[in-house]
Amino acid sequence: MAMRISVIGCGYLGAVHAASMAELGHEVVGIDVDPAKVESLAAGRAPFFEPGLPELLERTLETGRLRFTTDFADAAGAEVHFLCVGTPQKSGEFAADLQYVDGAFAELLAIVGPGAVIAGKSTVPVGTAERLAARLEEVQPEATLVWNPEFLREGFAVKDTLHPDRLVYGVPDGAEGERATAVLDEVYARILAEGTPRLVMDPSTAQLVKVAANSFLATKISFINAMAELCERTGGDVTSLADAIGLDERIGRKFLNAGLGFGGGCLPKDIRAFMARAGELGADQTLSFLREVDAINTRRRVRMVDLAREVCGGSFLGQRITVLGASFKPNSDDIRDSPALNVAEQLRLQGAMVRVTDPAALANAKSSYPNLVYVEDVEEALTGADLVLILTEWEQYRELDPEKAGELVAQRRVLDGRNAIDPAAWRAAGWTYRALGRR
Ligand code: NAD
Repeated sequence: MAMRISVIGCGYLGAVHAASMAELGHEVVGIDVDPAKVESLAAGRAPFFEPGLPELLERTLETGRLRFTTDFADAAGAEVHFLCVGTPQKSGEFAADLQYVDGAFAELLAIVGPGAVIAGKSTVPVGTAERLAARLEEVQPEATLVWNPEFLREGFAVKDTLHPDRLVYGVPDGAEGERATAVLDEVYARILAEGTPRLVMDPSTAQLVKVAANSFLATKISFINAMAELCERTGGDVTSLADAIGLDERIGRKFLNAGLGFGGGCLPKDIRAFMARAGELGADQTLSFLREVDAINTRRRVRMVDLAREVCGGSFLGQRITVLGASFKPNSDDIRDSPALNVAEQLRLQGAMVRVTDPAALANAKSSYPNLVYVEDVEEALTGADLVLILTEWEQYRELDPEKAGELVAQRRVLDGRNAIDPAAWRAAGWTYRALGRR
């Protein structure tokens, strides 16, 4: 049955969620405080790079079931309100900044009707849902607050939203929870019909599930990067190590790619917010290992710069360095805490002449790192380089022909920050190949 839905906050998560809900057949209004974003979405233009989103927007806008506005009043009458606003790291501390959640929730309180369900999708510190639920109880006791965390991966956001691994509902006890569960089942009916596992739990556990998942993923990446540090000391090869341990099905090979480490708008701030929240709960020792996970991750960036300096003969002065990749991962234009840009900026500050290229993220990169030089065309970026760094593993960089690339550069020297290219093929074409954690 088609439902009336509002999606509050139309960023990487909310825009995809709103269009996907319309794709499932619902009547959806997407609301954001950013008029430029709303205008772009309403015109069918994705305000950020996400494969499949432009087509999905076009298709769903055409049906008339999807619209976007800055006017909160348009959310009135929705049966379900999805809260999708940002929860960035607070400036100067580890904790999450909840001002956008609180601001959007205050707006929702003014319009939420009896019987409505407010479903939080933002990643929040455990306890947030309980605090918001208490506020809702005062203002509209006949509405229900649930937490329904989102696990989409940028680059696969459309597929992950329409065909997720699992749905998690954090609902209150008793009849109210059962009713909210039935409402969410109605929203996700087509997804559930595919056999998608759906786990119903209390809101506190549902909030923890999201940060626990991200903490586990961050730990897995930092674990293999710690092994890379040891391989660098012993002359070992971390890729062979990952292949060998990854075949143990209890370990698994996914997320065991050593390299420059994680970044983006989720993992770094989520593990920090989790540590901060644990401290507030009097359990700071419980998550002290995440501090090490974070430290290993940021050390990779420093190590990458050191390796580049070593390859350049001890100094960056006069060296022309080409950085392939600016986004924090391929198939995204998201540069939040991008390891690639962090390294590029360190190289520049230490005297290198740095050129950065990326298929999607240059506009975002320019506004956050205005002092770097940006080149759209990869061939132009490679021309005359003394050293090439692969820092984001876009398909087009994985597939570079070492012979053709070699004809463009001044010196055939490549640092593979993502273990993305075949060392044998590049060495055969006369390149000096170096990578983190490899011989
Ligand atoms: P984002 O910054 O891209 O989007 C947040 C949006 O909320 C912005 O467009 C902003 O203008 C809007 N906003 C802020 N205050 C508002 C208000 N009062 N009313 C309406 N809109 C408002 O962030 P994002 O990446 O989409 O992340 C949103 C949340 O989802 C975060 O908690 C994040 O941790 C979580 N999450 C993100 C991803 C991801 O891959 N990006 C995946 C899972 C979960």
